[in-house]
Amino acid sequence: MEQRVINFSAGPAGLPLPVIEQVKNDLPAYPGAGAAIFEISHRSKTFDAVLQGAKANIKALLQVPGGHHVLFTPGGATMQFSMLAMNFLNGGTADYIHSGSWGSKAIGEAKKHGTARVAWTGKEDNFVRVPENDALDLDPDANYVHFTSNETIQGVEFRAEPEAGGKPLFCDASSNFLSRPIDIAKYGLLYAGAQKNAGPAGVAIVIVRDDLIANLPENLPSLLDYKLMADNDSLYNTPPAFSIYVIGLVTQWIRDEFGSLEKMAEFNRAKAQLLYDAIDNSGGFYTGHAEKNSRSSMNVVFRATSEETEKEFIAQATAAGLDGLEGHRSVGGCRASIYNAMTLEGVEALRDFMLEFQKKKG
Ligand code: PMP
Repeated sequence: MEQRVINFSAGPAGLPLPVIEQVKNDLPAYPGAGAAIFEISHRSKTFDAVLQGAKANIKALLQVPGGHHVLFTPGGATMQFSMLAMNFLNGGTADYIHSGSWGSKAIGEAKKHGTARVAWTGKEDNFVRVPENDALDLDPDANYVHFTSNETIQGVEFRAEPEAGGKPLFCDASSNFLSRPIDIAKYGLLYAGAQKNAGPAGVAIVIVRDDLIANLPENLPSLLDYKLMADNDSLYNTPPAFSIYVIGLVTQWIRDEFGSLEKMAEFNRAKAQLLYDAIDNSGGFYTGHAEKNSRSSMNVVFRATSEETEKEFIAQATAAGLDGLEGHRSVGGCRASIYNAMTLEGVEALRDFMLEFQKKKG
């Protein structure tokens, strides 16, 4: 077998090795099915147990209160940008908190379906922080308030939910989903593309409040209708069955290894601290992109003294088996994505590499 790298990529991202071993074990014949999980009917008892198991794990980890549905929708988070606007904006007005590149994309899609107001933007400051509540300019007529709980590209993360002025709060949680506890009761809609903390791409996990989907616009495309998806328990059509199966394994791994999202969060904070300490103690050799109180525990975005030094850093890191450290093309620099599955040893290896590299170059 080829050696596995230490994978710092932003998504698709590394999944827990025990999960990958389990997937391998379940091939080519899933227990009780006599065929691979992606070869059997999505209406079979076997697959139903897989889907219910994945859903139950998500509900247990996030302590999802009654009155919410957990859905698996095809098309990832980008599809959600459109789907939520078609369901809930529909020619009206909504407030968007613009804290980075993914917020921009969400706004761009929503504008096709109504007025997406920018209630706050961090653009002029190059998206280095999340807003204080008193900086938000909320519209009393907004149908909802949308924010991105972790901006994957800028490495900017909300510590707590923004104020929504009594409106339903909508959240793109793609890159910090299941990384820490959240109070689902505060949300009207929360969604996450799977391919960072939850499983393979091709599916988004959606948690939506039942009363919001009771009266949706008519004539929505079937697969973009939250009510239809909820009424059919995410099985209106053939779902991304393989991804849902892996989500079941990943969420079970979190439960078995950590027991709760409080413990998951402690682990994630400790890992992030190692890298932020290396940056802060570098005497200016490395600089973090985000302001300290907006720093992400998932995506550590930083620069070195020059673009040339960054190129060298990334090339040497890659050669040392530390993979995927190049910053997003829109911001440059370096980015270490350290989701749930990243081990402490993996982060320590990067920290040691950073110290060593600085010693050589600084
Ligand atoms: N939102 C955030 C915060 C993301 O990080 C991403 C993917 N990197 C997306 C949305 C888009 O997700 P998808 O590719 O699943 O459409």
